[in-house]
Amino acid sequence: MLNYEELRRFMVMRLKESGYVKSKSVEEALLSVPRELFLPDNLRHLAYEDKPLPIGEGQTISAPSVVARMTELLDVREGQKVLEVGTGSGYQAAIVGKIVGPKGHVWTIERLPGLAEAARRRLEALGLANVTVVVGDGTEGLASEAPFDRIIVTAAAPEPPQPLIEQLREKGVMVIPVGSRDFQRLEIIRKGERGEITVTYDIDVIFVPLVGKYGWPEG
Ligand code: SAM
Repeated sequence: MLNYEELRRFMVMRLKESGYVKSKSVEEALLSVPRELFLPDNLRHLAYEDKPLPIGEGQTISAPSVVARMTELLDVREGQKVLEVGTGSGYQAAIVGKIVGPKGHVWTIERLPGLAEAARRRLEALGLANVTVVVGDGTEGLASEAPFDRIIVTAAAPEPPQPLIEQLREKGVMVIPVGSRDFQRLEIIRKGERGEITVTYDIDVIFVPLVGKYGWPEG
């Protein structure tokens, strides 16, 4: 029988040593969310290896190092309103949900209803009442809840979708993989006090495509 808690502690220790985890908030969130519960039963034993893994319907859960890196870049704080595009398993949403805490809220959009339902059940089982799963095309954002303090996109975009830039609050931050269908770079998009946009770049990544009106066409 695997001791998942111990494996989780080792994973976080390795992520700290390699510089992916820098802040106490990300460290604590990674320690408090059981990644094994976000995987199909036959892959649970791989939960604490630093690998993306299949979650069904041709989609993946990102490697823990990428989750850690993107969460650090997002600079999430307690009490914030966050939008995630690409719920997948729900793991990244759970990590952000832990950091924003009960005074904050995470809305996470998934285009595939089966994955959204499975994620909703997992998040509920973990008691994460501050995370709401929405089925839809996340490239259009979620105008009814905007503006957001933070936006994280966990699928590969050809360009940052304009509705998401519009739904980001002044002084807000968006993290998004941008590039081709096969290969991307993380972009950090900041909106200034007067709405001015600045973009910086981080590590190269490989995500499944963001499919939708302001993303890639299907197929
Ligand atoms: N964040 C996820 C996790 O923690 O497991 C991993 C996300 S997975 C790499 C990308 C997800 O984005 C897939 O589940 C895919 O169906 C979804 N997706 C792709 N295009 C989308 C869109 N336009 N709106 C919402 N979800 C989308």
